[in-house]
Amino acid sequence: MTQTLSQLEHNGAFIERHIGPSPEQQAVMLDAIGASSLEALIGSIVPADIQLPGPPAVGEAATEQQALAELKAIASQNLRYKSWIGMGYSAVITPPVILRNMLENPGWYTAYTPYQPEVSQGRLEALLNFQQVTIDLTGMDIASASLLDEATAAAEAMAMAKRISKLKTANKFFIADDIHPQTLDVVRTRAETFGFELIIDRADKALDHDDLFGVLLQHVGTTGEAHDYSKLITELKAHKVIVSVAADFMSLVMLEAPGKQGADIVFGSAQRFGVPMGYGGPHAAFFASRDEHKRSMPGRIIGVSRDAAGNTALRMAMQTREQHIRREKANSNICTSQVLLANIAGLYAVFHGPVGLKRIASRIHRFTNILAAGLQNGGLKLRHHHWFDTLTVEVADKAAVLSRAVSFGVNLRSDIHNAVGITLDETTCREDISALFAILLGDTHNQDIDKLDGEVAADSQSIPAGLQRQSEILTHQVFNRHHSETEMMRYMHSLEKKDLALNQAMIPLGSCTMKLNAAAEMIPITWPEFAELHPFCPAEQATGYLQMIGQLSQWLVQLTGYDALCMQPNSGAQGEYAGLLAIRRYHESRNEGDRHLCLIPSSAHGTNPASAQMAGMDVVVVACDKQGNIDLGDLREKAAQAGDKLSCIMVTYPSTHGVYEETIREVCQIVHQYGGQVYLDGANMNAQVGITTPGYIGADVSHLNLHKTFCIPHGGGGPGMGPIGVKAHLAPFVPGHSVVQIDGVLTQQGAVSAAPFGSASILPISWMYIRMMGAEGLKQASSVAILNANYIASRLQSAYPILYTGRDGRVAHECILDIRPLKEQTGISELDIAKRLIDYGFHAPTMSFPVAGTLMVEPTESEGKVELDRFIDAMLSIRMEIDRVADGEWPAEDNPLINAPHTQMEIVGEWAHPYSRELAVFPAGNHNKYWPTVKRLDDVFGDRNLFCSCVPMSEYQ
Ligand SMILES: *Cc1c(COP(=O)(O)O)cnc(C)c1O
Repeated sequence: MTQTLSQLEHNGAFIERHIGPSPEQQAVMLDAIGASSLEALIGSIVPADIQLPGPPAVGEAATEQQALAELKAIASQNLRYKSWIGMGYSAVITPPVILRNMLENPGWYTAYTPYQPEVSQGRLEALLNFQQVTIDLTGMDIASASLLDEATAAAEAMAMAKRISKLKTANKFFIADDIHPQTLDVVRTRAETFGFELIIDRADKALDHDDLFGVLLQHVGTTGEAHDYSKLITELKAHKVIVSVAADFMSLVMLEAPGKQGADIVFGSAQRFGVPMGYGGPHAAFFASRDEHKRSMPGRIIGVSRDAAGNTALRMAMQTREQHIRREKANSNICTSQVLLANIAGLYAVFHGPVGLKRIASRIHRFTNILAAGLQNGGLKLRHHHWFDTLTVEVADKAAVLSRAVSFGVNLRSDIHNAVGITLDETTCREDISALFAILLGDTHNQDIDKLDGEVAADSQSIPAGLQRQSEILTHQVFNRHHSETEMMRYMHSLEKKDLALNQAMIPLGSCTMKLNAAAEMIPITWPEFAELHPFCPAEQATGYLQMIGQLSQWLVQLTGYDALCMQPNSGAQGEYAGLLAIRRYHESRNEGDRHLCLIPSSAHGTNPASAQMAGMDVVVVACDKQGNIDLGDLREKAAQAGDKLSCIMVTYPSTHGVYEETIREVCQIVHQYGGQVYLDGANMNAQVGITTPGYIGADVSHLNLHKTFCIPHGGGGPGMGPIGVKAHLAPFVPGHSVVQIDGVLTQQGAVSAAPFGSASILPISWMYIRMMGAEGLKQASSVAILNANYIASRLQSAYPILYTGRDGRVAHECILDIRPLKEQTGISELDIAKRLIDYGFHAPTMSFPVAGTLMVEPTESEGKVELDRFIDAMLSIRMEIDRVADGEWPAEDNPLINAPHTQMEIVGEWAHPYSRELAVFPAGNHNKYWPTVKRLDDVFGDRNLFCSCVPMSEYQ
């Protein structure tokens, strides 16, 4: 039959490309699980009283081309001025080889946090490089694998200083008055909930105070002064004060490391190593400390260990410090951090090496010296004598200078009294210096750059003698051998090949929502219109950003059923913290500041209790019953006991057990009845979008994980975005920002992130997703996510019991396979199954969360029936292998499960196992085989012999 013209004009909807199973496959799957239609299935699973009456108002779906064109038009409203504003953000040149082979490469950006080290050796090595760069530049012993941004790293430094201080009664924290204003803002917010007294003054005044547990200094002050703090640090340390120093990667290439001057903690932003400003983020923060304090550090740390064959292998070290194990006693609430950005920064250092980095840093510094000399020749006064890349220039008529700058297409820093600030960067060239002379001295400035250079090159005092770097940087081989593009491309590919990401196979990690991150969604983030903006540029230059963020916020308001949205938190855990702060401030505003108890079900994600602790709340655990639901009796009792001390409940919906609790409305009512607020953890929104909303259910505030539900890729462990939706009564209490007035938000509150809109430059991903799916597509996505989970549960339940189910034995968008009975019978554990899945070419499901001894599977809507069947078949085949162990055919201590995963090296060696090499490595045939590069990691060895810097290349042979 010939098609009509309008059929031929149909471009193919994005919805069909995002959702894995075709309508025909869906019909087969529905049949297999005994459901008559998708609508009937959803209708029977989701409690009737929370199903939305109609679709959310987010409009109709657009095609990829339409959405890209629309977003391009919006982005084009952004004005790409040169921003020499500084304040912790500088223009960069992302080496194209890194841009294309990492930032734009799904092999890197679709991976998950390396909890399964055997399928993550590539990004673990890249992160180890990042740690080594940090260690070398800061002069410290040990570094973490990234924090969320410089300002939150400062807050973590303060919290850590308190943890490690020997002065147990000291409660004051001193901050030098020339740290970046947004850093101060975030630290102030954190200090408030911890009850620390802050003192902000000139650094040398720190010695005048008693009872300080810590001091925070900035190596190069926010107005540009390069400080030699060695003497001050020595004196402070004589008083047992913990000294933290904020520093900048690029300046550290030339300046002496704070670690060499005695600092206890050194942190800062790694943005300048190749990551675009992106209107504020995402950027990795680095964080380093002394060896003796390593167990008190926040965030992930990559360590060197060995595998079952005794070969060097990498893994995440000392996880017992982290929220997923220690909960409210954790060092921080950090879960998602900034892995992709840390990897870019680490690879930037690999690409340029010590010689290239010194050239870049020296060029920036030399241009700054030339600029300084010319401005002084021209009669202007500089505020400081010592600098690296930033000058504060006294001007008589600041407004005139700033408007002249704008006429040159240039932004200068404008918030300094009677002065302007100029921060030069890697992109600065001669023409820029001439333009700056013209802006500040007039068109007839008469400054000759070469002549000035002759003067400053011979004799510059701008870096004090004691602050000139003496120590070497980046002496490891990895930083000295990949400088040609060919070498670099191959090095990056060699790392990528070691890892399993979504471009290889499904990643069925429960609670993580590893769905498609479509190419069309990713394309806009590297558009210069989005990448190049400084977060503190004048609002009229960011019209496109503000429109995109405003529209996305409106859509998210519709999809959550809340009244307002705050786009600042840059991870889910940060959203929890921000939401709990709003609750705390709300109670305080009503003279109910005593409400400090936070009810948390035993099944909660570790970030929940860790965030509650950060928000100054005490955690009360609520029991779950045998079916995995919140025990309403226990909840009533705990809420009544808490009484007028009750602050809130944190509840995840659908629950972390993977079911829609029928009683969720009642849970909200009970908590409200006792004057508490309901925080609904939105990590499982992929089972709600278009079907129900937290607001409709009765919650007051939620975070969304845009990196789960709304398609921002996980990046191997970040970036993410955790905006919070709130009901109107909480809106005045969401985070604000001290540098940027956030339009349309009346809040007067302190910040939780360095940048006003968190990681703004990845928001186009979620914008594109919603625009291309529309209301109908989003609902379909949630529905198919539920169908896929039920299909897996139904086909696997005879081999592995499903731990929790709701009505009709159904699950929500994920299901928990209970491995404990099998382990009891056969000795084969969830860990063995997880590792054996690698031989079959799969990433393991979530292990032992929320219940120890289980595997939690979340397929998402993006996986089609073929891939689901492949996974199911692998799991069934593994079950038969377990039976062979149970039957005694294979010994308990020598079988393909216990020995998994198997490497290429191993099968070409001697083979004495009771099963064949073929069965070891090709259990599912050799189609698209993934080869792990190491055998099972030895966790105990790694934590006993902690080693967190680069190993010599020879170790890898
Ligand atoms: C992922 C997750 C979080 C934390 O989100 P991050 O972005 O990793 O900080 C919180 N709660 C639940 C249930 C989650 O699955």
